[in-house]
Amino acid sequence: MLNLEDPELLRSACLIDGAWISGQGATLAVTDPADGAVIAAVPALGAAETEQAISAAAAAFPAWAARPAKERSALLRRWFDLILAHADDLAAVMTAEQGKPLAEARGEVLYAASFIEWFAEEAKRVYGDLIPAPQADKRLVVMRQPIGVTAAITPWNFPAAMITRKVAPALAAGCTMIVKPAEQTPLTALALAVLAQRAGIPAGVLQVITGDAREIGAVLTGSDVVRKLSFTGSTEVGRILMAQSAPTIKKLSLELGGNAPFIVFDDADLDRAVEGAMQSKYRNAGQTCVCANRIYVQAGVHDAFAEKLAARVAELKVGPGTAPDVAIGPLIDADALAKVEHHVADALAGGATIRLGGRRAARGGTFYEPTILTGVTQAMRIAQEETFGPVAPLFRFETEAEAVQMANDTVFGLAAYFYTESARRAWRVAEALEYGMVGHNTGLISNEVAPFGGIKQSGLGREGSRYGIDEYLELKYLCTDIG
Ligand code: ADP
Repeated sequence: MLNLEDPELLRSACLIDGAWISGQGATLAVTDPADGAVIAAVPALGAAETEQAISAAAAAFPAWAARPAKERSALLRRWFDLILAHADDLAAVMTAEQGKPLAEARGEVLYAASFIEWFAEEAKRVYGDLIPAPQADKRLVVMRQPIGVTAAITPWNFPAAMITRKVAPALAAGCTMIVKPAEQTPLTALALAVLAQRAGIPAGVLQVITGDAREIGAVLTGSDVVRKLSFTGSTEVGRILMAQSAPTIKKLSLELGGNAPFIVFDDADLDRAVEGAMQSKYRNAGQTCVCANRIYVQAGVHDAFAEKLAARVAELKVGPGTAPDVAIGPLIDADALAKVEHHVADALAGGATIRLGGRRAARGGTFYEPTILTGVTQAMRIAQEETFGPVAPLFRFETEAEAVQMANDTVFGLAAYFYTESARRAWRVAEALEYGMVGHNTGLISNEVAPFGGIKQSGLGREGSRYGIDEYLELKYLCTDIG
């Protein structure tokens, strides 16, 4: 089965206060979505172990926060180096539990590591301010201090990157963090924790706990000691966690659902637009929150675009992530498959047409054929909700105003993409789109140096970039007469 160069990376225990804990015997099975085989079982921990982790994080915090940033930075850098050195093993674990093709998994490992490298550098640049005082005998100072104990709850679609994007800025800032990974993909998280421990990150600074999401989530959100929660996942669960965090006025970063429009104007470079759509739509079998969810194509190029896109999509090979040349792996589980099928059936009932695919793949399991639908309209479910599958719904539009209006006609506001060769139109549309991130003539916008995050019901806060560390820092204003 999983043949790792370093078998120690495959852990079936949680890291709490520097020790690997197996719990009382109850476990959660981790399965390979490509064939349903059980890969491993991780501890089903609950409230008691979460309390223990919170105490350990609180105990570790003062010493960690007090260390010079240069030292925290060096430890993070060592973690980064170890991740790169074990990239193949991490990718193998990720593909086994998540399903994405190995090349994509390896890409995610590098992407995940880039946040650690970046925040190791940013750790040393947490500057304060000296404000010119309105009175001669005062000095006004602003310092930026770590928030304290923090928690992260992460999803299965990026089992490594969604963790490092939170842990790296938290630790760089001087916070300690407890991570609750998704139940489908805890093994990548535990492997990252093995490497963090090897890098010398002290006990209690980074902890990973697996088990009942509701129970662990309730303890983390209900705790006075946990000062901040960073969550990536569905808007539905984000709302629950936000409500649960209200009594303790907890700081929140929320990266929630998207419903990304992808607009192709008449004056677009069609080949580039097709390339961008391929990357934005079909990556991770369509299971990313920034995947193009609605493809709006202007009437003058609609048919040509559909033709070119169909030619490319027809080449995508479906299969297990470990097989060579596979572009589309399995969907994460049966629920995900059911949602995709439901969206397609609803669109067809509403008058859409299948251009390509439109059904489960012949190999069975949770594999779905890469699909293109035409004649899709705003009222269909596929236009209203995130599909999270390899389905490209094409909408036809006439005017720029109409495209922008339809693109913004959603409660979500994460990522949007548009293609035009006109610079004037590019500025107009970029400014009009109500989204946290906009790609012009590109379908790939995520990297560690740019702020990732959404507006409206897509969330709060930003990850990555120089802004990302602010999410883990408090401002303290000092007014002194000593100057
Ligand atoms: P998805 O639909 O992508 O699986 P979810 O929002 O359901 O996204 O899950 C994202 C993360 O939130 C996972 O780690 C999951 O275990 C966790 N989670 C789900 N429900 C709850 C809850 N009620 N309280 C705390 N965490 C939860």
